[in-house]
Amino acid sequence: LESQILRAQRLESLGTLASGIAHDLNNILTPILTTAQLLPLKLPDLDERSLQLLKLLEGSAKRGADLVKQILSFARGVEGKRAVVQVGHLLWEVVKIAKSTFPKSIEIEADIPTHELGTVLADATHLHQVFMNLIVNARDAMLDGGKLTITAKNVVIDENYAKKNLYAKAGRYLAIAIADTGVGMSPEVLDRIFEPFFTTKEVGKGTGLGLSTTLGIIKGYGGFITVRSQVGEGSEFRVYLPQIDDVQKLAEAESQLPRGRGE
Ligand code: ADP
Repeated sequence: LESQILRAQRLESLGTLASGIAHDLNNILTPILTTAQLLPLKLPDLDERSLQLLKLLEGSAKRGADLVKQILSFARGVEGKRAVVQVGHLLWEVVKIAKSTFPKSIEIEADIPTHELGTVLADATHLHQVFMNLIVNARDAMLDGGKLTITAKNVVIDENYAKKNLYAKAGRYLAIAIADTGVGMSPEVLDRIFEPFFTTKEVGKGTGLGLSTTLGIIKGYGGFITVRSQVGEGSEFRVYLPQIDDVQKLAEAESQLPRGRGE
């Protein structure tokens, strides 16, 4: 628990630093972006080449703004539109994407009993992003092929367990495990994976923001993540999301939500 507290403090100060930078960067990028978008309208007889250059400028400013958004989303947690999410359906979608885009050398196994799983209150887009981050990392860890396993089940976290994990509170959860048989992580790497900008991938391949964003999102929903890994054996990420299985709570949550979201 001691080391968990230290790690949490380190993450928090990194988060504060990153969000300060992100805010300043946002103030710089916004006028660049709006100018790049407005100039072609103000100057109707700009030549083709200048228009192309402005498009380039707009594209870069947009990418910068996206990065800023990503940094802010992990630093202060996300405030998405929450709705009742059937995580099973969402996970099967993710499995479908993996099956159609991952190399054939990666076998994909899924055990997701959609109708047995409890529901959670979250923004489906954010959860989708979380699972995509995790399966893309799994793919990147299995360049020589391997097996990706996605499972989901209902679990109960008891007081005893909660005492040992800083982020876990006792209660009913949905546990989603994403396991790979890839390269695995050393204890030194494992210790830093949730830090913003920490990456072992080549320059240009990884931003190091995937897992920090993922953790930010899951913490924002009152959940937590555990990781197990062995060098040369593979890794398993387990995402725990608190269930809303209380009928009363479910009805209240649904009545407060805009119609048409979730299922
Ligand atoms: P990125 O993917 O851009 O590097 P992440 O925050 O998603 O950023 O991951 C940080 C680092 O954690 C990765 O660079 C990699 O070293 C390690 N990592 C994450 N997932 C796995 C995995 N499934 N197997 C091995 N290493 C992993």
